[in-house]
Amino acid sequence: MADLDSIVAEIAHDMRGITERGHVADYIPPLACVDPGKFGIAVMDAGGGAHVAGDADEAFSIQSLSKVFGLTLAITLEGSALWTRVRQEPSGSAFNSIVQLESEQGIPRNPFINAGAIVISDILVSQLGRLGARQALLDFALSQSGAPEGLFIDENMAQQERETGFRNAALANYMRTFGNIRNPIEDTLDLYFHQCALTMSCRQLAGIGGYLMTGGVDLHSGRMVTSVSNTRTIMALMMMCGHYDGSGAFAIRVGLPGKSGVGGGILAIAPGLASVAVWSPGLNAQGNSLLGTLALEKLVQKTGWSVFNPFPLSVQKIT
Ligand code: GLU
Repeated sequence: MADLDSIVAEIAHDMRGITERGHVADYIPPLACVDPGKFGIAVMDAGGGAHVAGDADEAFSIQSLSKVFGLTLAITLEGSALWTRVRQEPSGSAFNSIVQLESEQGIPRNPFINAGAIVISDILVSQLGRLGARQALLDFALSQSGAPEGLFIDENMAQQERETGFRNAALANYMRTFGNIRNPIEDTLDLYFHQCALTMSCRQLAGIGGYLMTGGVDLHSGRMVTSVSNTRTIMALMMMCGHYDGSGAFAIRVGLPGKSGVGGGILAIAPGLASVAVWSPGLNAQGNSLLGTLALEKLVQKTGWSVFNPFPLSVQKIT
């Protein structure tokens, strides 16, 4: 079997030749102006080694991918009490839908739809304060990225999210009427918008995702980030709900827990084996990176890393 460096180089080479790249998110200018020709891939292996190709060191907006990190902080601080305020089920509705909230008394279906992520932000604001929670998220990313240079919260992006975030404000206000938002709406949304504006490269993102691969340990510092049981919960949610209305198709095509964002990034985890980040800004009809999904599908075909593979994952380990 080829080594990981050759595999990622080959995938990046194949992606360069593809002209159909989907549509870049255009609801705010800083996303709309990103070059759709970009493609990056980074694989961090279980030994902490990085295997990268293409635009793997170029920073992009991780958007909804950050919901994984917000959830990790919240579940670590709040424990299982968190699940009284947000459920653990796929929604079957659009990521920013409001309809289920009425029949389900303001309790969002899962932490990866916007309503659920806004509740998670509210929990973090209660625990750490508005600015404390923002700093904790940034510190979480910086400390686990392996190479923090160039990783930041893009203030302009956060500002534009706020200026166009009418639906997120509606979700927050609506949940407030059920008592499921407990801080001033503007504080909770301020954290949510800044979380969406986290900006980093594929190499850094794969580094941060390492704690999910290892069952909670940050490979760079050896520090326990969260419990094994929390990582299992987070990855199960990623598998079920990580790709909007395309989560089922992603599970079938790729077979790894993954989370996408409208900036065109995807973080996917092969438990015990690898943390993988891909980025290509063009999105498919479900809002997931078109080439990013294809690249992950190819990676899994070449490595056998799908969690649905009938062979034990340990024998699929490649160096
Ligand atoms: N910032 C976006 C919003 O709240 C999230 C985009 C995404 O799903 O990646 O609408």
